[in-house]
Amino acid sequence: MPAFICVTCGTQFAASEKPPERCPICDEERQFVPPSGQSWTTHEALARRHMNGFQQHEPGLIGIGTVPAFAIAQRALLLMTDQGNVLWDCISLLDDATIAIVKGLGGLIGIAISHPHYYASMVEWAKAFDAPIHLHAGDRQWVMRSDPAIKFWDGDTLPLARGVTLIRCGGHFAGGTVLHWAQGGDGRGTLLSGDIVQVIPDRTFVSFMRSYPNLIPLSAPAVERIGALLEPYPFEVIHGAWFDRTIARDGKAVVQRSITRYVAAVRGDGTADLK
Ligand SMILES: [Zn+2]
Ligand SMILES: [Zn+2]
Repeated sequence: MPAFICVTCGTQFAASEKPPERCPICDEERQFVPPSGQSWTTHEALARRHMNGFQQHEPGLIGIGTVPAFAIAQRALLLMTDQGNVLWDCISLLDDATIAIVKGLGGLIGIAISHPHYYASMVEWAKAFDAPIHLHAGDRQWVMRSDPAIKFWDGDTLPLARGVTLIRCGGHFAGGTVLHWAQGGDGRGTLLSGDIVQVIPDRTFVSFMRSYPNLIPLSAPAVERIGALLEPYPFEVIHGAWFDRTIARDGKAVVQRSITRYVAAVRGDGTADLK
């Protein structure tokens, strides 16, 4: 039986004879079902028309993304530490070349994913590399393919390796998580932010939303809470969810000034909007 994959969000579902009736992740206010309706593919069909490309973002950090683009088109990140490799976020396609390359680099000690939009084919990756998947328990309801490899964690932080810490920021999703890598950014720290802390096109600010496609903002307290949770962690570099969404310098200050701008905008009395 095939494990169908939603074409809009890239999530792989548990194996079934027929495609699922609906995709709960798309059929929800943070994602969308396109006007043409819900459609499905399989991993096999995806592999016939797509492949994965690799790009090194900084020493020890390699992006893995599918070409041509598929679904939300995020890329995963292979983070290499002296204790083993961690896959941050996930993509729907895991082809034979990717398996060979990642195994050649030492395989995986774990997979961590920022939020349900990037769960993708996480179980395929876990099986191929015999690695656990660390998901925040706050998003348990959004797992569409259960597996013993999935380990739910609670609380605000989870260390994965020396200098590698998951931080649950919430916001976009209740279990929304970022990864802090202390040795990244030439030792000044790197933040892997998914779209929990969104790197925007000008790369001098970040932003925060409950829904990006549907333009639903977060509240000021939710965004201030993200700032408070990141406060203990120094970082120079931020890598967002796509290959080109990187802030190379002053990452911590960028987040701080972005929170100030965001909170002023949503708490404003409206006069700024009339100028
Ligand atoms: Zn979907
Ligand atoms: Zn998202």
